[in-house]
Amino acid sequence: MHTLTVPVRADLTHYQAGAIVFQCFDDRFFHLFERLMEALEKEDAEEAGVDQAVVYIDRVITAGGAKDLVADGTPEQVSLMGQIAKSVKLHHTHNIIAITHEDCGAYGDEATQGGDREKQFLYHVARHREIEAAILAKYPEFAGKIRHFYLSINGAIELDIAKEELTEEEARGLSLFA
Ligand SMILES: [Zn+2]
Repeated sequence: MHTLTVPVRADLTHYQAGAIVFQCFDDRFFHLFERLMEALEKEDAEEAGVDQAVVYIDRVITAGGAKDLVADGTPEQVSLMGQIAKSVKLHHTHNIIAITHEDCGAYGDEATQGGDREKQFLYHVARHREIEAAILAKYPEFAGKIRHFYLSINGAIELDIAKEELTEEEARGLSLFA
């Protein structure tokens, strides 16, 4: 039998996580996810006034990303909520990043809104409002510490979940004007 060995070193220094991140396992969006993580790291560095910040994140990669945080009482929801508790316990995490994406199979046909990308976006905004409420119902200490992102086919867009309508910036992010 052939077995594979990959010699790469891992750093065992304990870390405090900047955030726990919920992302869908859909590989078509993985590069967007990575660019978003880099952008958040850059933002942290700028806020800290340093050239480069080392930001550790706890990645929770599942079908649907943040979706099942709202599925009340299902084993999936219990599992995802449990990841938050573990991240806090092990890595003293203070922030949550909830991500969903365009054309997500976990949300199914309803979410695609018959191919209307603007409606699909707003559908996700509404779902993120539920995600926020579900997290805060269990972990009120995360009030003001949850950020929401939507990965569209044209890039990552931060969601203002208080808004019911598409903002100009969001429309630009979706490239609806293109
Ligand atoms: Zn997905």
